[in-house]
Amino acid sequence: MDEGSSPRPEPDGLLSRQGEARRVNATILSLVRNSEIDGMVQSMRDLERTWNRKFNYPWTFFNDEPFTEEFKKRTQAETRAECRYEQIPKEHWDTPSWINKDLFDESAKMLDEKKVQYAQLESYHKMCRWNSGMFYKHPALKDMRYYWRVEPKVHFFCDVDYDVFRYMADNNKTYGFVINIFDSPDTIPSLWPETMKFIAAHQEYIHENNALAWLTDADLRPDHNRNAKGYSTCHFWSNFEIADLDFWRSPAYEDYFNHLDRAGGFFYERWGDAPVHSIAVGLFEDASKVHWYAFSAPRLLYLSFHFAKPPNRFRDIGYQHIPYFNCPTSPKCRGCQPGLFTDGDEFLFKEDCRKNWFKFVGMD
Ligand code: GDP
Ligand code: MN
Repeated sequence: MDEGSSPRPEPDGLLSRQGEARRVNATILSLVRNSEIDGMVQSMRDLERTWNRKFNYPWTFFNDEPFTEEFKKRTQAETRAECRYEQIPKEHWDTPSWINKDLFDESAKMLDEKKVQYAQLESYHKMCRWNSGMFYKHPALKDMRYYWRVEPKVHFFCDVDYDVFRYMADNNKTYGFVINIFDSPDTIPSLWPETMKFIAAHQEYIHENNALAWLTDADLRPDHNRNAKGYSTCHFWSNFEIADLDFWRSPAYEDYFNHLDRAGGFFYERWGDAPVHSIAVGLFEDASKVHWYAFSAPRLLYLSFHFAKPPNRFRDIGYQHIPYFNCPTSPKCRGCQPGLFTDGDEFLFKEDCRKNWFKFVGMD
């Protein structure tokens, strides 16, 4: 878009120009339906205001249908950065040929009786599968290295003044997250058993500094561990995800995804991309390359205020996807209650499993 018709004044002058000059190959990425335009615009406003207006990373929108002109016009109006609108090829989105329709319907009914949300919605299963094993194969991401996944209707609360993609690249990080929660074991009864089958045949993919201890930690919710047959169900909540596409493109992940895809659990159960991504990162990647999004002020400032604690103790990207929050205590944050995990029902508090990760990495 040319500067003259820019809908917003140039923000943060120098920071913006310096930011752009050092940009890495990365994009903000959203899978979204035309009907979710209002929620998408709202998410864009938050992320542009708190972060992207300083860096102008492109937005790449994906949809299984063509985007409407209205969708394109209203989203492009929210940013000075380039917006790209991509349709997902049928062969990436459609239910694979080996899935039996009757078995799917029957399983969906059973899951529904167990109160598994969206079980009967075939599109939801397709979405989870696409987010697990397809998105990074889209030609539009061919030259991209990192992405930040953003859903409609999420909130960002804190000013983030550094280039998070550059941070990933400079610090050799693979996967960044802000929230960890337990999953419903009813959605993934055979995911861990299938994973065990896979690794029995592929020991070579297991990283020596893996996070298996985290994946199998039964302390907080032993019931979950039992019902998911050995997996704690604790996962990185993947509606927020800042990650290196090369990890998903690796032979380890590709083989793992294909194994899971053939096993059918994206349809006969309701495997989410969150546990699938989390298990893969936990097994095949060096755990030190997983980043809990972090305070990253200039070194001096950080030493004087925070007494040499490692930077990744400080979550600095304030975030909400209903019903959970990541809300840091910081003057850079506005609009959320510091430390609050959920504003939903009481029982939701016990879905929080951030503790498991902190225990695993040795933070208090
Ligand atoms: P939840 O977060 O698990 O409740 O699931 P959402 O309904 O938020 O869906 C996750 C993401 O996938 C959101 O960004 C949705 O916009 C997107 N999504 C879900 N289903 C579809 C679909 O059928 N088509 C498209 N284009 N996007 C979808
Ligand atoms: Mn969502």
